[in-house]
Amino acid sequence: MKHVYLAPSRRLGISLGVSPIPFKTCSYSCVYCQLGRTTCKTVKRREFFSTKEILKEVEVALKRLSARPDHITFVGEGEPTLASNIGQLIEKIKEMTDISIAVITNGSLLFNEDVSSELMDADIVIPSLDAASEEVFRRINRPHPSLKIDRVIEGIEDFSRQFDGQLYVEVMLVKGYNDGSEVEKIGEVLKRIKPDGVYLMSPIRPPCEKVEPSERIEEVSKLLKAFNVITPESGEFHPEIYSSAEEALKSVLARHPLREEQVLEILNYFKAEKTILDSITERVSFAGSTYYRLRST
Ligand code: SF4
Repeated sequence: MKHVYLAPSRRLGISLGVSPIPFKTCSYSCVYCQLGRTTCKTVKRREFFSTKEILKEVEVALKRLSARPDHITFVGEGEPTLASNIGQLIEKIKEMTDISIAVITNGSLLFNEDVSSELMDADIVIPSLDAASEEVFRRINRPHPSLKIDRVIEGIEDFSRQFDGQLYVEVMLVKGYNDGSEVEKIGEVLKRIKPDGVYLMSPIRPPCEKVEPSERIEEVSKLLKAFNVITPESGEFHPEIYSSAEEALKSVLARHPLREEQVLEILNYFKAEKTILDSITERVSFAGSTYYRLRST
């Protein structure tokens, strides 16, 4: 499975992830990104993979799954709205199933009318907003040079006004980057966006660069009236959409690191030996837990 993967999500329960873009194709290169620095920083939209190819995988995964996922979520190894066929994919998946469709996006392209109209049919949209000032935006998100924070915010605000589904804004609080006076500015912007909720996150999986979770998370959570989402994701894995432990591990680890117990769950399911981990993964310690991520080549 190249485009579809399954993992418990901190925000969305059991979610069938759909990635319509190649690895690290993004309009940002966030300091906290679990995938490392963006290798293809772009704002140019295009059809990276055919709609047919992606839909086929979604169909197969839905057939193989023993339990109904809570959501089908567009997410990925970069920014999913860069895929110019995302609207068509949402439309076709809606014809296939009534499972709710979510889009996790960095929100940077919502000012683009094509992007915003293509996301209108989703049930849940979760844009991120880690900064309200240009300076912090450049430091934390390291955006494509053509992107300006005012325009990004305007795009999210406009989208929020028109969107009938649920809109949650995700704020990643990173020590020394946006957990000082920027918090009040973000709070003011959130009042204008009027989302259905705010997810306040802090890096809990090992990022590739040296960033630390903010110590102000509880305080900021009250200030932004946020759901405080700092706990590791819970819920069961459903590895049955994959044919082997190696395929499952490569697919999920390409998107984010996994805690040790999650890796063991996958190995147990396929009755696979722990030795397969040596060739494809590396162990890292972060915030008191052991994680596995894909071995860098
Ligand atoms: S927007 Fe997401 S994928 Fe892109 S760099 Fe930031 S964290 Fe990584």
